[in-house]
Amino acid sequence: SGLVEFNDVSFSYDGKRPAIEDLSFTALPGQTIALVGPTGAGKSTAIALLHRAFDPQSGIINIDGMDIRALKLTGLRRNIGVVFQEALLFNRSIAENLRVGKPDATDEELRTAAARAQALDFIERSDKKFETHAGERGRMMLSGGERQRLSIARALLKDPPILILDEATSALDAVTEAKVNAALDEVMKGRTTFVIAHRLSTIRHATRILMFDQGRVIESGTFDELVAKG
Ligand code: ADP
Ligand code: ADP
Repeated sequence: SGLVEFNDVSFSYDGKRPAIEDLSFTALPGQTIALVGPTGAGKSTAIALLHRAFDPQSGIINIDGMDIRALKLTGLRRNIGVVFQEALLFNRSIAENLRVGKPDATDEELRTAAARAQALDFIERSDKKFETHAGERGRMMLSGGERQRLSIARALLKDPPILILDEATSALDAVTEAKVNAALDEVMKGRTTFVIAHRLSTIRHATRILMFDQGRVIESGTFDELVAKG
């Protein structure tokens, strides 16, 4: 259902300096948790721990009450969708990239997910049969906004209860930005979402904001609560 708990989680890349220190928080099913704070504050590391790119040296991370180290990696990853511009696979077609989370998806399902992610236009333009290769050449062929939407379409197809996303910082033209924003709103709906937030509207509407600094959460609350605190 998407309940996520971090309990006193600490992690260091080099065994000396902590990247995350005693991190505790709860995300209830369907909440949007915005991670904010300066570069190097530990936001990406916290998210990497959630999908087990690394395991913490101490502390426990639970999903739906289960220690994630007790879950099979495939089971864990089935529960979590990751939306990063960079998360696309090289030397794979657009269709293969879409199908990563759901290998048996039909063309109809691909089309529906692509439409919901505002991605139908460029997918159809670049390849009517979903066969174009998104390798080095494909990467050049897709803009940052298109890669973001492709990544969102993939998450929609997979339909996981938990979503991790890194909002694009790249400058987008107004039309592309509107499409990306609409796609983001669509994919976040109804999922427990952890978002490394750059859009003010995301931060404003988040159920809870976690303000990171030097590996710790120094403030948390809603936008209004944090504004009131100054
Ligand atoms: P505590 O250990 O006291 O829960 P927190 O800083 O986690 O400390 O929570 C502070 C307040 O925010 C508490 O009132 C708690 O109920 C509330 N809270 C914590 N997590 C969430 C959440 N995910 N959604 C809504 N409210 C929350
Ligand atoms: P943020 O996402 O908030 O910018 P990070 O989680 O990337 O922060 O970084 C937290 C700390 O961990 C920083 O001091 C950063 O330099 C360090 N760090 C991040 N990734 C690595 C890595 N792969 N190897 C070593 N140190 C890292």
